[in-house]
Amino acid sequence: MSNDTATAAAAVPQTRHLQTAIPGPKSLALQADRDAALPDGLGRTLPVFVDRMAGGIIVDVDGNRIVDLASGIAVTSVGASHPEVVRRVAEQAQRFTHTCFLVTQYEGYVRVAEWLNAHTPGDFAKTTALFSTGAEAVENAVKIARAATGRPGVVVFSNAYHGRTLFTLAMTAKDTPYKTGFGPLPTDHVYRAPFPDLVRWPETPSPEEAADEALQAFEDLVAEVGAEQLACVVIEPIQGEGGFIVPPDGYLLRLAEAARRHGIIVVGDEVQAGLGRTGTLFASEHDSFVPDLVCTAKALGGGLPLSAVTGRSEIMAAVPPGGLGGTYAGNPLACEAALAVFDILEREDLPGRARAIEQRVLTALGPLVDIDHGVAQLRGRGAMLAVEFVRPGSLEPAPATAVAVARTCHEQGVLVLVCGTFGNVIRLLPPLVIDDDLLNDALDVLADAVRQHAAAADPVGVSS
Ligand SMILES: *Cc1c(COP(=O)(O)O)cnc(C)c1O
Repeated sequence: MSNDTATAAAAVPQTRHLQTAIPGPKSLALQADRDAALPDGLGRTLPVFVDRMAGGIIVDVDGNRIVDLASGIAVTSVGASHPEVVRRVAEQAQRFTHTCFLVTQYEGYVRVAEWLNAHTPGDFAKTTALFSTGAEAVENAVKIARAATGRPGVVVFSNAYHGRTLFTLAMTAKDTPYKTGFGPLPTDHVYRAPFPDLVRWPETPSPEEAADEALQAFEDLVAEVGAEQLACVVIEPIQGEGGFIVPPDGYLLRLAEAARRHGIIVVGDEVQAGLGRTGTLFASEHDSFVPDLVCTAKALGGGLPLSAVTGRSEIMAAVPPGGLGGTYAGNPLACEAALAVFDILEREDLPGRARAIEQRVLTALGPLVDIDHGVAQLRGRGAMLAVEFVRPGSLEPAPATAVAVARTCHEQGVLVLVCGTFGNVIRLLPPLVIDDDLLNDALDVLADAVRQHAAAADPVGVSS
């Protein structure tokens, strides 16, 4: 932990502490107000209300100190109150909070763009446009690819998650709860190819065979639809909400080659996996994957809403003046936060921290992987790791196990998230600045919860 991080964390002891049951009485009172004032459509993972956060700790309004293995869904990689982020945002707030970059400009926006142009994969001229949310970045990447190619079609994948706006919902794979009741979705010209998920690929072949077959399925889709109809293929280099699924080595590179042969623009959705989370600045780097356009968000703004599309200058230039932007897009406070995040990533070697976190998690949870005991796989990269639960002895998803494990962790003050197309995966997204002892403590709690619940799931065929 660097001095800066240490200072912030010092105000909040980096230890788990239960003052009350979780949720405690103050959270429960706020919960009642929430239920009266908010619609049910807003889900919640852990029904506590937060007082403050620092390092790897969430302090709730009842004084409980909860270990954060979520980072607000991969957002607060540098911690939720890193002093440098706080300082730069506060200074910026005193100068001005907003201009709308399309009306009058400010330097921070340009500096964020320069950093992304220099650090995203690909050694070619790039430009960057900023937005506020991940979904907005993905939609704009599609707009740019359509403008550049004059083609309508978009290829996405099984298990994909790209957001909750109407178009990104059409791109997202999972139906319930994301799409239920919101149709008709604008699915015209959206095509889905199979993502090589090694756990669930038919017949579970070798990684090479799965990659070959997935690429063949992509080629078949292109042949069926016609390359001249396809603007872009959008892929998460490691799938996020879909279950932290890592494609076989070499697959992304070969997909990009295949797409380019057909004049299809390659869009990498690094919204969840990008910016140090997987042990390199961008998850694409593991596979030498070089998208034409890269979408970033989540960790980019260090907790403030900021997203970006960075891509080949000539593709980005296809949109005429006025075609991109938004009232809040590239907000000056969020740009200052991002500039702080870039400094911290380098100075505190957060990609290195992500790799160290991976080792700790593999050590703690690796021994629990045993399909006969209901744990099918521990997968992911860096500090983006997940455990998949199944009915013991089968590949049948066991979502109830994931929920039970999460509940046991939550009761003991460890915040974990459930994900996966079948809701049977627990994912870990700790802040990259989390203290080693704190992480070990949280992993002990998680490992106990897995031992308690996974093997106890009904084996296949016994009952449902
Ligand atoms: C979260 C996410 C999005 C959507 O981002 P929002 O900011 O919620 O709109 C898009 N793609 C991926 C891979 C994500 O994880």
